[in-house]
Amino acid sequence: MRTRITKLFSIKYPVIQAGMVWCSGWELASAVSNAGGLGLIGSGSMYPDVLEENIVKCKEATGKPFGVNIPLLYPQIDEHIKLILKHHIKIVFTSAGSPAKYTPLLKENGVTVVHVVANVKFAKKCQDAGVDAIVAEGFEAGGHNGIEETTTMVLIPLIKKTVDLPLIAAGGIGTGSQMLAAFALGAEGVQIGSRFVASVESSAHISFKNKVVEAKDGDTALSLKKVVPVRLIKNKFYRDIKTAEDRGADTEELKSILGRGRAKKGMYEGDMDEGELEIGQVSALIEDIKPAGEILKEIINEFKEAKKKILVQ
Ligand code: NDP
Repeated sequence: MRTRITKLFSIKYPVIQAGMVWCSGWELASAVSNAGGLGLIGSGSMYPDVLEENIVKCKEATGKPFGVNIPLLYPQIDEHIKLILKHHIKIVFTSAGSPAKYTPLLKENGVTVVHVVANVKFAKKCQDAGVDAIVAEGFEAGGHNGIEETTTMVLIPLIKKTVDLPLIAAGGIGTGSQMLAAFALGAEGVQIGSRFVASVESSAHISFKNKVVEAKDGDTALSLKKVVPVRLIKNKFYRDIKTAEDRGADTEELKSILGRGRAKKGMYEGDMDEGELEIGQVSALIEDIKPAGEILKEIINEFKEAKKKILVQ
């Protein structure tokens, strides 16, 4: 499969495993890269020493290209950027912030830079900042999300007609037929998060992986719009926030209910009631926990089958 995305990263399949806090360390990233996709280490939940260890181990585990996702709202961002340069990381996905700040420095150092956006305005900013490709992430996605609630189905063609950069679709994609649909809309690659949470190599707690497998349609919702919009499983923590929001709680009160380290508590330590459980709507389609390489193979086979079926009709 050849697209501008496979060429840009020198990978076999145009499938990127999303950088996800508490779920995507070196084990998952290297497994996806070894299977022919692009694995990303999710640095948003890693202190600098932990990120460094993950980079070193990922290099040992794969000779294939891999990257690092850096959410720009991370508190020790400058230290993470220094590590990227120190270890000659070739691919960086930035998210949750302005692409103008770090793109020039990364590009000067030979890094391929991709930025994640949820609207057309930020896609234009990416082009101005000189990024190499864009991830357009729709409302269905898990974790941090756009406030406008634009769905992947609408976002991809909107960005496609505005910006001529290679486009990676994200949000609501976990199967080969969904990947094909994204390609029909103009994407040249897909970024997949939730499906890889339920993989053997994901560092998520087993209780969270099982929760993802059990999830049905309607079990997730976009929450905390007044703080940082995030798609979550509707557990006790979600309902506590919802109750407060419904009675008109202000940002400060919501922040105090949120407290600190909720994502770690839920996704990494396995507290299914009090933790923040970030996952996408596509969790409703996920039925098992498998090795990441098998997941990727299944997606590619299904993509090919779905393409044939459409051509037959
Ligand atoms: P909180 O402020 O509630 O907690 C911080 C958490 O991040 C703690 O669990 C802490 O681990 C861990 N952490 C890792 N590195 C640092 C650091 N340098 N300083 C402080 N804490 C650190 O934040 P959240 O858990 O909601 O989010 C943490 C980070 O994850 C955010 O900065 C954000 O960049 C990113 N994020 C990205 C998402 C995405 O979709 N891309 C989604 C959610 C968060 P410990 O408990 O061991 O101290």
